[in-house]
Amino acid sequence: MTEKGGESAASTFTGNKALMLEEALIFEIGSTETTGVDFTGTPAESDAAMPAKAYLAGLEREAPIGLPGLSEPEAVRHYTRLSRQNYAIDLGLFPLGSCTMKHNPRLNEKMARLPGFADVHPLQPVDTVQGALEVIHQLAHWLVTLTGMHSVAMSPKAGAHGELCGILAIKAALAARGEDRRVILVPESAHGTNPATAAFAGFAVEDIPATADGRVDTAALKARLGPDVAGVMITNPNTCGLFERDLKEISDAVHAAGGYVYCDGANFNAIVGRVRPGDLGVDAMHINLHKTFSTPHGGGGPGSGPVVLSEALTPYAPLPFVEQRDGRFELVEEETAGEHHAASFGRMVAFHGQMGMFTRALTYILSHGADGLRQVAEDAVLNANYVLRSLEDVLDAPFGGAGPCMHEALFSDANLAEGFSTLDVAKGLIDEGYHPMTVYFPLVVHGAMLVEPTETESKAALDQFVGALRSVAERAKAGDPALKTAPHFAPRSRLDETQAARKPVLVWKDAEPALAAE
Ligand SMILES: *Cc1c(COP(=O)(O)O)cnc(C)c1O
Repeated sequence: MTEKGGESAASTFTGNKALMLEEALIFEIGSTETTGVDFTGTPAESDAAMPAKAYLAGLEREAPIGLPGLSEPEAVRHYTRLSRQNYAIDLGLFPLGSCTMKHNPRLNEKMARLPGFADVHPLQPVDTVQGALEVIHQLAHWLVTLTGMHSVAMSPKAGAHGELCGILAIKAALAARGEDRRVILVPESAHGTNPATAAFAGFAVEDIPATADGRVDTAALKARLGPDVAGVMITNPNTCGLFERDLKEISDAVHAAGGYVYCDGANFNAIVGRVRPGDLGVDAMHINLHKTFSTPHGGGGPGSGPVVLSEALTPYAPLPFVEQRDGRFELVEEETAGEHHAASFGRMVAFHGQMGMFTRALTYILSHGADGLRQVAEDAVLNANYVLRSLEDVLDAPFGGAGPCMHEALFSDANLAEGFSTLDVAKGLIDEGYHPMTVYFPLVVHGAMLVEPTETESKAALDQFVGALRSVAERAKAGDPALKTAPHFAPRSRLDETQAARKPVLVWKDAEPALAAE
């Protein structure tokens, strides 16, 4: 092993390694006897004024539930220690391709925390939340403007949820036409959520192959069109980090054959301010506010996936809708004769979406302005090309010869040493202090490594990342055996990922006997 700290680092009394603190499971350190709060005890059964059963309406527990208890300082330390074993965008560059892990501007946070936005309740009378509705309305306006579309459904709560919204709108439009089209065409390079969405909505999914240059095979797609095809789902820029140049031609052909075009807009950050999907014939596209518009992502906050719609799909949009009437903002909760919801397919969520994300995204849009948003796309593309060109001499870049990439750089495992894989490179990168890039996706490239630096990284940050990835790639090409067991400096070294996926241990087994009885 090449562990720089030597053997002694692994054998401290505590298991801690300086600032890297070990932490046991809460079930191991907690005890059912401990609590951070002193209760006075529940009223006795004999308490004539208010017997315990009267409080709980017969739902009182018969046995302890076995939750481990900690004192307050123990609980705080437990979760703080665990959080330090995590990687976050606030710690460093987060190269996950297709995820757009970019800096979340603090101005967004400041706006979202204003009490008038942060403390609104979805059931508040509409008169008392006019400002919040105006934020939703304004954000909707800018999303429609930036995409060149007709309307937008704000309520979907993530990209995948937005896909479902778009596909349900397509389904409703087909039903209104009295047509029974069952097939959705999805390119091979699609994000897994695309075929999953189509299947979930009851469609049959058929693959469209990719060309040798990583784009949709337009001829194959056109050849498959027909009266049974409901539509296509295409990501643009696609998950190989390439612009689908034929999208307009594809849209025209799909429309001529009576179908609809769903565009997966997860990578809109690469074209915002430069290309309007509406001009390319798109009928529905989700926008991941947590990607393009910099709202927190993953553990940092809920997603939000508004869906922009063409004129043809607008009548089928989900409820509710914010509408401005006579200077007042209304929340339209029911189908009306209005153009937006005349034939709504229904409701996707109880309320109208993620208020905190709307506030952050609108702040981001307004603080960048038209020129700033265009620069976002340009810098995202420039940064990805910088990574691509800086590493293509050491890592195989399958489409590197096809010209510049868009927002992400794609590499393969083609020239690693015998027995070394993309996984080894990813694990080596952890020792260098980076979250690994996206690996083994897209599926059209063997051993794919997909790097999306985003526009928020400086040249210095990119140079350091490129240096780290270059060093790990060189070790993988030279066949450094230490790389096969990396990471060495992480809280845990290499795990058996196959076992973890096939036989995950999701339940704490050694619960105290009294508690295991359920
Ligand atoms: C992230 C992503 C999705 C799914 O979006 P979520 O917000 O994670 O549900 C779909 N397609 C592509 C290409 C993506 O990158």
